[in-house]
Amino acid sequence: MTAFDKSNAWENDRAHVIHPYTDFSTFSNEGSQIIERAEGMYVTDTDGNKLLDGIAGLWCVNIGHGRKEMAETIAEQVMNMQYYNPFGHSSNIPAATLGAKLAELAPGDLNHVFYTCGGSTANDAAIRLVHYYFDMKGQHRKKKIISRQNGYHGATYVAASLTGIHGTKTGFDRIGEDFITHVSAANLYDKPEGWSDGDYCDYLVREFEARIQQLGPDNVAAFIAEPIMGAGGVLVAPDGYHKRMWEICKKYDMLYIADEVVTAFGRLGEWFASEAIYGYQPDILVCAKGISSGYIPLGATLISTEIYDVISKPQCVGGVLSMGLTYFGHPVACAAALKNIEILERENILGNVKEVGTYFQDSAKSLLNQPIVGDVRGSQLMMGIDLVADKKTKTPIDMSEKAAGTIFQKCIERGVIIRPVGDCLVLSPPLIISKEQCDQIINTVNESITEFVAQR
Ligand code: PMP
Repeated sequence: MTAFDKSNAWENDRAHVIHPYTDFSTFSNEGSQIIERAEGMYVTDTDGNKLLDGIAGLWCVNIGHGRKEMAETIAEQVMNMQYYNPFGHSSNIPAATLGAKLAELAPGDLNHVFYTCGGSTANDAAIRLVHYYFDMKGQHRKKKIISRQNGYHGATYVAASLTGIHGTKTGFDRIGEDFITHVSAANLYDKPEGWSDGDYCDYLVREFEARIQQLGPDNVAAFIAEPIMGAGGVLVAPDGYHKRMWEICKKYDMLYIADEVVTAFGRLGEWFASEAIYGYQPDILVCAKGISSGYIPLGATLISTEIYDVISKPQCVGGVLSMGLTYFGHPVACAAALKNIEILERENILGNVKEVGTYFQDSAKSLLNQPIVGDVRGSQLMMGIDLVADKKTKTPIDMSEKAAGTIFQKCIERGVIIRPVGDCLVLSPPLIISKEQCDQIINTVNESITEFVAQR
């Protein structure tokens, strides 16, 4: 094994690595907690602290950490053929095999895959393919995309513009926002006082349709949405919302892009959530993260046969799709994804999610007894815990209290990693979690909140 000098890792990282979504001012003093080893549900830092991973790395390590057969698959593929040009008529066996496997698992006729390096690039590709598709159909004005406030779609420029989280745009230009517009997030916790879930859903659907009318249906190409918003705070839509938004898309000849970067590959107990859980058939489905459980980067944009047939027509701009990444269909990443899917199937990990997920959600409801917990929501192994100053008015806890960050630190001290996102605590453990480990996470969060409240 390559021996790295770990004695300088903290300082080298602090001095040279630009960290994503990180506050420069605190970072220059505090640096990083450096994780050195990972196995199953646990990671260990360079100080030897072993921590239960309550966030699956970053919503991605679905099969758990440190699987030897993943390492063997990756090594075998590297030794056999680590890389070759994927452009034109050149391909490799893992990319072809994974393409067929994704078509088998994906709902409906999502039979064609465009590979990328992660979720942002897969969303970027989705938007380019939408534009290309309508151009090929001669609908050259049909280019506008409707996204949602609080949605997270990535960090490349277009994916960041699709994203509806304002803080992520501070200091950047709004590239792409001439054709991207945002409607309200679907967040049951935000439902106005006195409204039923149905009233709220009607309102969101009406708002969506009104926006299409305002933009002009001939100008609107697609709607993009996560089945459950992840980074925006695990926001859950009212029943029937996605299906109805999909119906509106069909009414106006728009494409529905399901961003399943977090929800695909089992987090909600199904391979893909859109059709199996929410009952709609996306035209484009974007996935990453759980496709390879984070063992190696990979993203995939799946498109319907209908879209494929249009963009592959011989009369298209010389018949050439002029887009693609060097690491498209990377053989090592695709081999890892195939092994990851084999493990998910062989160990019935989706079955575990269905069994343990309900237990996880039910037991977390006890956190509502805390004076600062306003909402506990989510589905299966995806959970958000909202911190509030006033439960009745649902006023968020003042950011100056740094509540989520402080509670996160207290959880770390107790041996559990959670994720603070604004005034929300996010949980998304590996899908191999046991009921005992669910208890450990919930008890730790509970004790940490109790301590925070006592010290306020
Ligand atoms: N879409 C969603 C729903 C995501 O949660 C993320 C990442 N958290 C992305 C897209 C972007 O993926 P990546 O960071 O792999 O580019």
